Amino acid sequence: MSLDESMIHDIVQKVMANMQIAGSVEGMHGVFQDMNDAIKASIEAQKVVRNLTLDQREKIISAIRRKTHENAEIIANMGVNETGMGNVGDKILKHHLTADKTPGTEDLSTIAWSGDRGLTLVEMGPFGVIGAITPATNPSETVICNSIGMIAGGNTVVFNPHPNAKKTTIFTINMINEASLEAGGPDNIAVTVEVPTMDTSAIMMKHPAIPLLVATGGPGVVTAVLSSGKRAIGAGAGNPPALVDDTADVRKAAQDIVNGCTFDNNLPCIAEKEIVAMDSIADELMHYMIQENGCYLANKEVQDKLTATVITPKGALNRKCVGRSARALLSMVGVEVGPEIRCIVFEGPKEHPLIATELMMPILGMVRVKTFEEGVETAVWLEHGNRHSAHIHSKNVDNITTYAKAIDTAILVKNGPSYAALGFGGEGYCTFTIASRTGEGLTSAQTFTKRRRCTMSDSLCIR
Ligand code: NAD
Repeated sequence: MSLDESMIHDIVQKVMANMQIAGSVEGMHGVFQDMNDAIKASIEAQKVVRNLTLDQREKIISAIRRKTHENAEIIANMGVNETGMGNVGDKILKHHLTADKTPGTEDLSTIAWSGDRGLTLVEMGPFGVIGAITPATNPSETVICNSIGMIAGGNTVVFNPHPNAKKTTIFTINMINEASLEAGGPDNIAVTVEVPTMDTSAIMMKHPAIPLLVATGGPGVVTAVLSSGKRAIGAGAGNPPALVDDTADVRKAAQDIVNGCTFDNNLPCIAEKEIVAMDSIADELMHYMIQENGCYLANKEVQDKLTATVITPKGALNRKCVGRSARALLSMVGVEVGPEIRCIVFEGPKEHPLIATELMMPILGMVRVKTFEEGVETAVWLEHGNRHSAHIHSKNVDNITTYAKAIDTAILVKNGPSYAALGFGGEGYCTFTIASRTGEGLTSAQTFTKRRRCTMSDSLCIR
């Protein structure tokens, strides 16, 4: 059944209003008042999940995929409504992408050695109960994606979501448990608390029954899980530069960069956050961005006003500006433009605060460089050693190779928009947890498993 826009709006308003009434999340699957109760329920659910066959786990995952497709518009609306960030159209696409391209149990593989002395296998087994911390920028996408991968691996998961996205997360977790129950699985395969806080996060991080923590967010949370004394996967911040050299298809580069940068109002951590362009093509690139791709060229006065608006005097991001459209940001500084404007562009030095800071807003500063070598050096500086994501537009294989080695990121997109790296218009699977700091890269079911060696001595080899 396809719902029209007004029906979706009514449903979202009703769900959000219901959740405002204290205790109204009672009866929603997987939602607890006390973090210890949530963890207890997750432990019980994991005892069931670990004994499910792979086929049974896959049935649960199929039901999660189906329900994600069915609820994509509602959850996308809820996310924008609650966080004030992103745009509904792109969030709908992100949910369909998550449902279609997050790997399930097929991601788990076995290594085998057989020979004169028998048979040895290495299998991927569950950790048990995983503690996951999720961001406000992709709240439901991350919860769905983490849940599919973690359940495929035989785990259950306790979420401590960003407080600004708790309702969207609760709705999503309820949906995941309904999917499990409908597929014959247990309740509480994913759980959370009604009011997530730093205290509930601390309880989760310290709980002895949780052996693995997965943090998706900024530097603070990644450092927190890495300091927990437990095994932790840290998917941290980025500031992806898009380098354009003098061999690039400049017109296409302009289109790809603006499309990637403006997707969900620049919320994805992989999205183009600034451009480094060689002098010989910089004017042409700027021309195509402005003339053909809905970019607004900000003069010095507008740049200064934007800087003062989107970055606080202490250097932090103004959360009211994160994930807002170019039009809304310009309006905040007294510039009114039409809906055709998707992105704000300007040229500046690499140290410009709107260039050097990970803004998560459709603001694209361009740094002009004389040589390719200077371009690489500048891009590496701008990535701040996050080792997260970077992009390049070039037809020169040697340049691409040099850049790839120098920037050393988990993701490097060549000649396409950043979202191609998530399997959206590119090959490969999707994830919303890119373990940049701890090196697992794009996480999937196998990331959430531990390796176990099983050896049969002197038999079972039939060669
Ligand atoms: P955030 O860091 O403010 O919050 C992320 C999560 O961490 C939230 O649940 C928050 O409550 C929690 N948190 C923050 N500090 C904490 C601490 N000291 N201890 C415990 N929990 C803490 O980030 P956000 O605004 O929600 O998301 C945007 C940031 O996340 C950006 O930096 C972006 O690059 C990054 N991000 C990275 C990935 C990735 O896959 N690498 C994906 C999405 C977002």
